[in-house]
Amino acid sequence: MGNIILTGDRPTGNLHLGHYIGSLKNRLKLQNEGHYDEMYVMIADAQALTDNFDNPKKIRDYVKEVAIDYLSVGIDPNKVNIFIQSEVSELTELTFYYMNLVTVSRLQRNPTVKNEIKQKDFDASIPTGFLCYPISQSADITAFKANVIPVGDDQLPMIEQANEIVRTFNRIYGETLVECKAILPEKEIQRRLPGLDGNNKMSKSLGNCIYLCDDSEAVKTKVMSMYTDPNHIKIEDPGKVEGNMVFTYLDAFSSDDQIKKYSEFNSLEEMKNKYSIGGLGDVYIKKVLYNVLEEILTPIREKRRYYEEHPEEVLNILKNGTNKAKEKASNTLREVKKAIMIDYFN
Ligand code: ATP
Ligand code: MG
Repeated sequence: MGNIILTGDRPTGNLHLGHYIGSLKNRLKLQNEGHYDEMYVMIADAQALTDNFDNPKKIRDYVKEVAIDYLSVGIDPNKVNIFIQSEVSELTELTFYYMNLVTVSRLQRNPTVKNEIKQKDFDASIPTGFLCYPISQSADITAFKANVIPVGDDQLPMIEQANEIVRTFNRIYGETLVECKAILPEKEIQRRLPGLDGNNKMSKSLGNCIYLCDDSEAVKTKVMSMYTDPNHIKIEDPGKVEGNMVFTYLDAFSSDDQIKKYSEFNSLEEMKNKYSIGGLGDVYIKKVLYNVLEEILTPIREKRRYYEEHPEEVLNILKNGTNKAKEKASNTLREVKKAIMIDYFN
C-alpha cells in the first residue's frame, strides 16, 4: 500500500508560525517530493464548532481564511484535495459508530483534551461534542485510509486514539481500517512552538501568535515586544539564552546561512555565546529574528494578495477538493457498514 496523507486545521483563526513550522512545512515537503498516492487537507469546521458552537459566524469566516492561508503557503490544489469537514457527512456517521468503541474515561485521559478543558474552563461542564472530538478526528483519518499524518506533537494523543479505534474495529468486525503514523518536524522546538508569551504553545485560541498574514509592521511590533531575559538590562550585561523567546524562535526558524546574512556571527551558537557573556543587545537579536521571519513571510503575503482578489477561485478549489473527499469517505463508510452488518439493501 502507498502513502495516503491527511492533515487538517481548525478554522478558529488564521494560521500562524506554529502551524508553519509544526505541520505546513512537512506537508509542503511531502507534496513537493511526491511520495504519496493521495493527499488531503481538511478544514475542520465541525471540530471547531465543538468549542465554538455559540459563534458559527466566526467559524464560517475562517474557513475561507484558512483556505487562503493554505494556498498562500504553497499547498497546491492540483496535488492536494483541500476540503471542508462538515460537507463530508460520512465523517459524522463514522464518528457515531466509533463512539461505541471508546469509553468516557479513555477520552478524559487524553492529555491534549485535558489541557484544553483547563484552558477553556470546561472543568465544571464539558460539552459532549468537545469531549468526543478525538473520536471524530479518528473518523477523519480512517475515512481516507490515511497512514501518514504530518502534525505538531499536541496531536500525538489523537493519533494514538485513532490507532486504538482501528485495532478494536478490526478485531471485532474484521480487517477494514488502516493504522496511521505521525510525521513530526525534525527539531523538538518545532514540534510545539511556544507562543509569544512563552508560556503555552502558540495557539489561535490563545492569541499569542505571529500570523502568516501579519504585515511587516505587525511582525516587527510583535518581535520587538518578545520576552527575553528581564535581568539583561544593559548591553554589556550577561544574558540568558535558555527561556529567551528570541533564541527559541531562532532555534526553530533560522539557518546558519541566515545568521551569517543578518548578523556579524557565523552561527547561532556563536551569537548565543556572545549574548551569554555580555555585549549583545536585545534589539540586535530581535532584528535578526525579524529578518529571518520576513524571509519566510514575504512570499506568503504576496501569494495571499492574489487569492484575496480571486475569492471565486478559492471557492472552486474547496468545492473540487470536497467532492473528491466525499467520494473517498463514502467508499470507506460503505465498507464499515458492511463490516458492522448494517448494509441492508446491498
Ligand atoms: P486552536 O487554538 O483552535 O486549537 P491551534 O492554534 O492549536 O488552534 P490547530 O488547528 O488546533 O491550531 O492545529 C492544527 C495543526 O497545527 C496540528 O497539526 C497542530 O499540531 C499544529 N500546531 C498548532 N499549533 C502548533 C504549535 N504551536 N507548534 C507546532 N505545531 C502546531
Ligand atoms: Mg489546537
